[in-house]
Amino acid sequence: MNNIPKYSLIIPIYNEEENIPELYRRISAVMDRMDGSVELILINDGSRDRSLEILRDLHEKDSRICYLSFARNFGHQIAVTAGLNFSSGQVAVIMDGDLQDPPELILDMVEQWRLGYQVVYAQRTQRRQEGWFKRLPAYMYYRILRNLADVDIPIDTGDFCLMDRCVVDVLNAMPERNRYIRGLRAWIGFKQTAVKFERDPRFAGDVKYTFSKSFALAMNGLVSFSKVPLQLSIYLGLFSALVSVLMAFLVLYWRLFSPGAALSGLTIIIMAVFFLGAVQLVSIGILGQYIGRIYEEVKGRPLYTLAEVAGFADRQNKQKSS
Ligand code: UDP
Ligand code: MG
Repeated sequence: MNNIPKYSLIIPIYNEEENIPELYRRISAVMDRMDGSVELILINDGSRDRSLEILRDLHEKDSRICYLSFARNFGHQIAVTAGLNFSSGQVAVIMDGDLQDPPELILDMVEQWRLGYQVVYAQRTQRRQEGWFKRLPAYMYYRILRNLADVDIPIDTGDFCLMDRCVVDVLNAMPERNRYIRGLRAWIGFKQTAVKFERDPRFAGDVKYTFSKSFALAMNGLVSFSKVPLQLSIYLGLFSALVSVLMAFLVLYWRLFSPGAALSGLTIIIMAVFFLGAVQLVSIGILGQYIGRIYEEVKGRPLYTLAEVAGFADRQNKQKSS
């Protein structure tokens, strides 16, 4: 029983060789200040740099460190999911590996957990040194999502959070492949609260969430938590029906009162064809978003392939012998 850690810290790593030493320095200082045993779970998401070797060294040096290594890059949400699957702490904390999420905040989160909250999420008050081209879409997106989603997903929150075991167990039991963890976390419920923080700039290296990865995540959030886009085609359809009735009246009017003008009808016809074409393509595209996800779910493939696992078995062996 003694070997089950109280806290599991989960950090996905994708080409972060320049960040890991500093990350380890700061996080181990925090771990030393925590009031119970800690396991640090690092997930190597198919890095192509020296990240995995650095993780191996750290594991040799520090028995609190366990790591998983994927056979290829599966993406951040899946890496976090794997970390949660392997975690055994009473409490799990998810954070990024680039020090944009300050590790020291974990102590504040734990304090809230002690007060009886099962989910404590970090809410950004500022994104330092991130350009408007990232801030503006993020600002708009979170507000649109809040209006459309079936569950109340708090604005300006990422995946940096603390979750009690009861929440982690529910999350682990969720079978879906298209995982939008901050949404699933809100869906689960229990007592949730925020701690505010200023998001620091990346310690080193480039952003690993490329524009296309961020866009895919944003789409996932919308499609997984809202059926409003599906209903959009009904409204678009009704709107274009209304436009065509108005046009019919217009043509009638021209015929009756100004016969010469009716000849410009060709422009109107071309416009109507394009308009209807656009409405139909948009509707089919929206359908495609949902059907594509149904297809993914139905295939039922495993979420990730593991190439290497270290640190967990030791603990299990110890547990058996004790
Ligand atoms: N990450 C990952 N797999 C990916 C992309 C990113 O595991 O395919 C990790 C990355 O190493 C970092 C975290 O996810 O620890 C957040 O990535 P990043 O800092 O690039 O994203 P942002 O700060 O824009 O959210
Ligand atoms: Mg980052």
